[in-house]
Amino acid sequence: MWQMPHDEDPVLRWAIDPRIAAGVSTRRGGVSTSPYASLNWSYAVGDDPERVAENRRRALGALGLNPAQLAVAGQVHGAALARVGASEAGGRPVPGVDGLYTSEAGTAVAVAVADCVPVLLAAPDHGWVAAVHAGWRGTAQGIARRAVEALVAEGVPASAIWAAIGPSIGPCCYEVDAPVWEAMTAAFGSDRMLVPNRPGHWRLDLWLANQMALEAAGILPGHIELLGWCTACHPEWFFSYRRDGARSGRMGGFICRLP
Ligand SMILES: [Zn+2]
Repeated sequence: MWQMPHDEDPVLRWAIDPRIAAGVSTRRGGVSTSPYASLNWSYAVGDDPERVAENRRRALGALGLNPAQLAVAGQVHGAALARVGASEAGGRPVPGVDGLYTSEAGTAVAVAVADCVPVLLAAPDHGWVAAVHAGWRGTAQGIARRAVEALVAEGVPASAIWAAIGPSIGPCCYEVDAPVWEAMTAAFGSDRMLVPNRPGHWRLDLWLANQMALEAAGILPGHIELLGWCTACHPEWFFSYRRDGARSGRMGGFICRLP
């Protein structure tokens, strides 16, 4: 279950199992200044690296983790994933992938988001976790489905996997045009996740699209935990690329199987 943050909580926790630490950082409780105030997770948006390092220490520390345990995806709005372990932890982002998965206890896998959807997967009884970055491109390319398939290929039954759909831009605020409509309907064979808004424009529900992708991959509907918080609607908690522009912070979505 998602646990509501309070006060200066640097992390929105996904409490799925005592053997798993997982969450998405908020923008609170960090040390960055405007436009990255206060807890910016990302080194790639022009913020002071020392502040980002401290922000990550705080967000991870809230769940008993530290940056040396962290393996991060390079993120190219694609649908490739990589299996990682301790040798990738604490190092450079893994290039060319938008999702990471691991069975190594103590290795945290992470993605950065600010409107795109962080999807976290956990199979506590089988010891696997995954973190996925799903914007509309990754969603249309099926990255959530491919993440489930990657765990299934490692021997994890899909019925044993739990999924969390974290904070992202919601259907309330995410207007898209015809190319996105075409990509999504071609990918899903359905326009269920698109609501007509004005001529040539729709509102896209990335939460529903990712839910559909997870269910199509065999995740039980009762195993999908949707937070339902829109990043653009909640400036007090989240950064939003659409709302704030390119010079804004990012949140980190991360998950770790505890040793
Ligand atoms: Zn909204």
